[in-house]
Amino acid sequence: MSAVREIPTPRETSDDAVPVLEVRDLERYFTTSGGVVRAVDGVSLTIGRGEVLGLVGESGSGKSTVGRCVVRLDEPTGGRIALKGTDITHLSRRALRPLRTDMHLVFQDPSSSLDPRMTTGQIVAEPLRLHRLVPKSGLRARVEELLGQVGLRPEHADRHPHELSGGQRQRISLARALSVAPDLLIADEPTSALDVSVQASVLNLLADLQRDRGFGCLFITHDLAAVEFLADRIAVMYLGRIVEEAPTAQLFAAPLHPYTQALLSAAPVPDPTTQRARERIVLHGDLPSPLSPPPGCHFHTRCPVAVDRCRTDVPELRELPGGRRVSCHLVDSGRPLDGRSPANSSPSGV
Ligand code: SF4
Repeated sequence: MSAVREIPTPRETSDDAVPVLEVRDLERYFTTSGGVVRAVDGVSLTIGRGEVLGLVGESGSGKSTVGRCVVRLDEPTGGRIALKGTDITHLSRRALRPLRTDMHLVFQDPSSSLDPRMTTGQIVAEPLRLHRLVPKSGLRARVEELLGQVGLRPEHADRHPHELSGGQRQRISLARALSVAPDLLIADEPTSALDVSVQASVLNLLADLQRDRGFGCLFITHDLAAVEFLADRIAVMYLGRIVEEAPTAQLFAAPLHPYTQALLSAAPVPDPTTQRARERIVLHGDLPSPLSPPPGCHFHTRCPVAVDRCRTDVPELRELPGGRRVSCHLVDSGRPLDGRSPANSSPSGV
C-alpha cells in the first residue's frame, strides 16, 4: 500500500506549494439502530491551489458526506483534514470561525439554503458583516458589485429568494460564496436542482469564476458531463471509498476501474455515431447498503470481472504512473482492467 503522507502539525502558511485542502484517511461512521453505517471509509484526497477536483459516484456513495466533513457540517469520526496546511479536524467552532472565509460550501438546493425572510442583498452582505470585510457604508456597493459578477442586476438585492428563479437563486449562493474570497469552494451538486435549460449557464458561471478567482474547488456531482467540463482531476467513490482517481482527460480516455468503466459507458455523449458504437456495461443489482457492505472489494457483487480473491481481500488504492490511483486486484495481476467485453454489454444502463 502506498504510504499515507502525514498532514503537517497545525500552522498557518501562505506558501503556494501547500495544498489548499488535504484529507487523509477520512472516516464518517454513523451509529443507527441497524448498526454502524460507514458513510465515508478511509478517503484521502488533495486539492492544489486553483485546482478543481471532481468527486463522482452514485447517490449513497458518500461523496456529499466528504464535502460536509471538510467544512465541518458533519464531524469526522476518523482521519484528518488540513486547510492550507492547518489541521482543522478538531478545531472548536470558535477557532474555526476565522477560517470560514477560506472555504465555502454551495449547496445543491438554493431554495433550502437561502433564508426566505432575508432579501438577497442581506444574504450576500451577511458574510461581509460577520467577518467585517467591508465597512457598513460600503456594504450596498459591494453587494451590487458581487451581484454583477454573477450576472444579476442591482435591483435583485431588494428581492427575496422566492421572487427569483432557481438559476438566479444559485447565482445568489455563488455571490455569497465570492463575498469572502475563499481559497476553497465546495460545490455539492450545484446544478442538479435546476432546470436543464439553466444548468449550463450556472456551470459556465462557476467555471468562469473559478478561472478568474483561482480558488480550489471540490466539485461533487453525479453529472459526468459537468465534471468533465469543470474538473482537472476526478475521484470516483463507491460505498464510502475512492476506487479510482486520475486527471480528467486520462479518466475519460481510459478508465481503469471496472466501476468507472461502467459509469462512463452509461454516460450520454453528444455525437450520436459514437453513442451508437459505444458498448454499455451493465451493473446488476443495486448499490449495497453501507450498513452491510460486501466483504473484500465492496464492488465484487456487481463487478463483471470479479475473481475469487475479490470476495475476501480488500484491494488497496495503489498509485500508478501519471498521477493515477486505482483500487482493484487486477492492477496487480497484469490482466487488463477491461470490463467492456460483449458478454457484459446490454442496452440497459448502470
Ligand atoms: Fe472487480 Fe475485483 Fe477489481 Fe473489485 S477488485 S473492481 S471486484 S476485479
